[in-house]
Amino acid sequence: MALQIEQFMCRSDNFGVLIHDPESGATASIDAPEEGPVLETLKRKGWTLTHIFVTHHHHDHVEANEALKRAYGAEITGPAFEADRIPGIERQVSGGDSFSFGSDIVEVIDTPGHTAGHVCYYLPRSGVVFTADTLFALGCGRLFERGPEVMLSSLKKLAALPPQTVVYCGHEYTQANARFAVTVDPDNKALAARAREIDALRAEGRPTLPTTIGRELETNPFLRWSDPAIRAHLGMQSASDAEVLAEIRKRKDNF
Ligand code: ZN
Ligand code: FE
Repeated sequence: MALQIEQFMCRSDNFGVLIHDPESGATASIDAPEEGPVLETLKRKGWTLTHIFVTHHHHDHVEANEALKRAYGAEITGPAFEADRIPGIERQVSGGDSFSFGSDIVEVIDTPGHTAGHVCYYLPRSGVVFTADTLFALGCGRLFERGPEVMLSSLKKLAALPPQTVVYCGHEYTQANARFAVTVDPDNKALAARAREIDALRAEGRPTLPTTIGRELETNPFLRWSDPAIRAHLGMQSASDAEVLAEIRKRKDNF
């Protein structure tokens, strides 16, 4: 039976995500942004939390680690590189590691940039990836702990996943990201159409996530460093991919 995925809001703009394997009953929370909404969602679904998969050490991703561990005895998995900053961590993982979750396999992808040890969790059998604050719909995370070259190689790993891969992200930032994206990729018709769709979803208070890798490749400027139209628009035809990514990131930081 297929994995069940439940997405819900936490804090002001964080996503909570629970994944549930109906056969084994295993249930994981992707990060632990806020205790209340995670507990409510578990109760509503009738699921028992068995795991927490932490992507990075930021407060808005680990705040409820210890409370959820106390409530359920859930095992906390997180990046070895920043293990000392992840409350309650028991299983340390890094890129290339894989482990089973119910009848599925979870592959760990190292995606430094936003933080130095950020990881994404990819479930190839289910065709889903949890990218937290590395890749957003129409955006990428701020480069707090590593530079554009490092983030570029992280984003390239995600861009290489099958295009139909479903992507869940850490935050509902899509509408603001769309407003910026059209300024660097103004002639992209798929992007313009998507921006209208996002406005309609947000007007109804609906989430813009999940997305897919394919959709992001077509419309997300942070994955389109090699696109000739974007490069021409930026006057960076002969720049390196990292230089283009750095310029787009800088413009977004100042947008
Ligand atoms: Zn973060
Ligand atoms: Fe965050």
